[in-house]
Amino acid sequence: MKSAVLKDLKVNIVETKKPHLDSKGAIIKVLGCGLCGSDIVKIKHATKENESNIKLGHEVVGEIVEIDTNTSYKKGDIVALGHHYPCFNCDYCRIGAYSMCQTFKNSNISPCGFSEYIKVDENHLRYTVYSVPDNLEYEEAAFLEPLACVVRAIRRAGYELNSDNTKSNALVLGLGSIGFITTQALKAFGVNAYGFDINKERSDFALKYGIEYKKDTYDTIFMTSGSSKAIPTALEHVRNGGKIIVFSSIENEEGYKNNDIYYRELSIIASYSPSPKDYEISYKLLCDKKVKVNNVSTIYTLDNLASAVEDIICGKIFKAYIKI
Ligand SMILES: [Zn+2]
Ligand SMILES: [Zn+2]
Repeated sequence: MKSAVLKDLKVNIVETKKPHLDSKGAIIKVLGCGLCGSDIVKIKHATKENESNIKLGHEVVGEIVEIDTNTSYKKGDIVALGHHYPCFNCDYCRIGAYSMCQTFKNSNISPCGFSEYIKVDENHLRYTVYSVPDNLEYEEAAFLEPLACVVRAIRRAGYELNSDNTKSNALVLGLGSIGFITTQALKAFGVNAYGFDINKERSDFALKYGIEYKKDTYDTIFMTSGSSKAIPTALEHVRNGGKIIVFSSIENEEGYKNNDIYYRELSIIASYSPSPKDYEISYKLLCDKKVKVNNVSTIYTLDNLASAVEDIICGKIFKAYIKI
């Protein structure tokens, strides 16, 4: 079967062995997989030494073609899924830092999402796999994992779906695909959410979905931009006593100054990768169409994965979905 690997720091599609079901879990025929910002970061920072360990693609939609499980999934089910689950037992899990758990870091789909077939294990089926309902296109369902990341960031900010958040306001800095769905998801949580991007094309696109910018002070700022230039903008817009959610890596070591945080009693909170609970909420938001992601992805084939990567890097497209 075909699968994507990094070779000489470039994305290559190679022939490899189809995964084999040798323990509980499932073999999934991949129908498509979203290209994530984290895939791009991995490609950019790859070295000749670590490139063989890099797995590309985890925002998978596929069909179960072989299964051995105690869950209710069966052969023929169309599912969307993500790649990591925690142990719920270690000291990281005890404090809710699920993405720091060693089981979380070690768990993954095999060989990677940009493959014709993947293997998932029993815990994936239990915690990160969801059935795709008829009202969702596959490329919409592929947002399950990125939207779960977003849900985690929103919950890290202290918002819960069933609490009254209508008095709170938030500003999302950066309106790439993650900022775009963060703003929509915040609105679904009842938060008065606004968005800002220095790129006019992106802010115009967001505006079509009702995402506006207003000069104001905000309870919470979500940093999705990947540029340290957004840091002064965040400090300018956050209310004293408010929160800044760090939700993206940036290219350099710049950060927040001690006294900026101290005298204004700001909270700087990071959010990295979703827990099983976040998948559950993400799935609900997608099924209820509370976050609109239809026709926002550009479709590529697996053989064209390298051009999808190029097009994302140069800002030509918003989000790529690789049809397999
Ligand atoms: Zn992702
Ligand atoms: Zn754990």
